[in-house]
Amino acid sequence: MVEIKSIGVVGGGQMGSGIAQLAAANGLDVILHDSDSTALNKALKSISDNIQRLVSRGHLSKDKGADAFRRLKGASNLEDFHRVDIVIEAIVESEDVKKKLFAHLDKIVKGSAILASNTSSISITRLASITCRSSQVIGMHFMNPPPIMKLVEIVRGADTSDDTFNTTKCLAERFGKTIICSQDFPGFIVNRILMPMINEAFHALYTGVATKEDIDTGMKLGTNHPMGPLELADFIGLDVCLSIMKVLHAGLGDSKYVPCPLLVQYVDAGRLGKKRGIGVYNYS
Ligand code: NAD
Repeated sequence: MVEIKSIGVVGGGQMGSGIAQLAAANGLDVILHDSDSTALNKALKSISDNIQRLVSRGHLSKDKGADAFRRLKGASNLEDFHRVDIVIEAIVESEDVKKKLFAHLDKIVKGSAILASNTSSISITRLASITCRSSQVIGMHFMNPPPIMKLVEIVRGADTSDDTFNTTKCLAERFGKTIICSQDFPGFIVNRILMPMINEAFHALYTGVATKEDIDTGMKLGTNHPMGPLELADFIGLDVCLSIMKVLHAGLGDSKYVPCPLLVQYVDAGRLGKKRGIGVYNYS
C-alpha cells in the first residue's frame, strides 16, 4: 500500500476546493490546480477563509490551522504534480474533458501515483482505459460539501487493484469519512437514486403539480429530507444534475432517465443554481 503524503487536486470549484481543504487540514501536502486562474484564486481565498473560521470557532487548533495554510499551494499548471502520491480530479462532469485530463496526468505523475476521480456518474473503467495505469485508477466520490459530509463512495473500475482500493479507503478514513463501495455502473449508488428524484421534482414543477416551495416543503417535512429536491439541485449545480441525467440515460437506456425539459432550459439560460446566484430559486 502506498503511504499518501501529498495530493494533487484538479478543479477548484465547489468540490475540488472542499477536497483540498479537507486534505490540508488532515496533514497532507496539497497542490490545487484549476485551468481558470480566477477560479483558482477564488478557491484559495475560500479555503483560507474557511480554515480561519474553523480556528476562530475552536473546531481546529491554531497550530493545525497554520499547518494547513503551509501545506496548501495553488498551481497554474499540471507539471507541478510530478511528485504527488495521488491526484483527485474534480473538474467538469464531462467524459471527454476528464479523459483528456487523465491522459495528460498519466504522463506527468510518478509511476506509483493513484489517479482518482470525484465523478458523480461517469465510468471509472472508461477513464482508466485512457491511461497506462488502469489498476491505479479509482472513483473517490465525495459529497457536497466535502469537509462536512460524512460519506465517500468508492468505485472500482474493471482493473482497479486491491492495493489502490485499500490505499484510497485508508485515505478516506483518515479524512473521517464512512465508505460505501459501488460497482462501476452509471451514477453509482447515490446519484442512481438521487438524480431521478430530482428530475421528477423538475417534472412536477414543469407540469404545474405544485409551486417550487410546496414541492420542497413536501419532501422536507413529508419524507424528512434536510433539503427539498429543487433546493438541493440548486446547491449541487443544475449543470452537474443535467450531466448526470445524461450519463444515466446514455448508460442505462431507459426513457425514465431523460432529463426534464425544464432542467435543460434552466441550464441553457445559465441558471446553474446557487453558484451562479440563480437556479430554481433566486439568491441575489
Ligand atoms: P464546479 O463547476 O463548481 O467546478 C469545476 C471546476 O473545474 C471549475 O472551477 C473549472 O474551472 C474547473 N475545470 C474545468 N475543466 C478543467 C480542466 N480541464 N482542468 C482544470 N480545471 C478545470 O463543479 P463541482 O460541482 O465542483 O463538480 C466537480 C466534479 O465533482 C464533477 O465531476 C461533479 O460531478 C462532481 N461532484 C459534484 C458534486 C456537487 O454537489 N456539485 C458532488 C459530488 C461530486
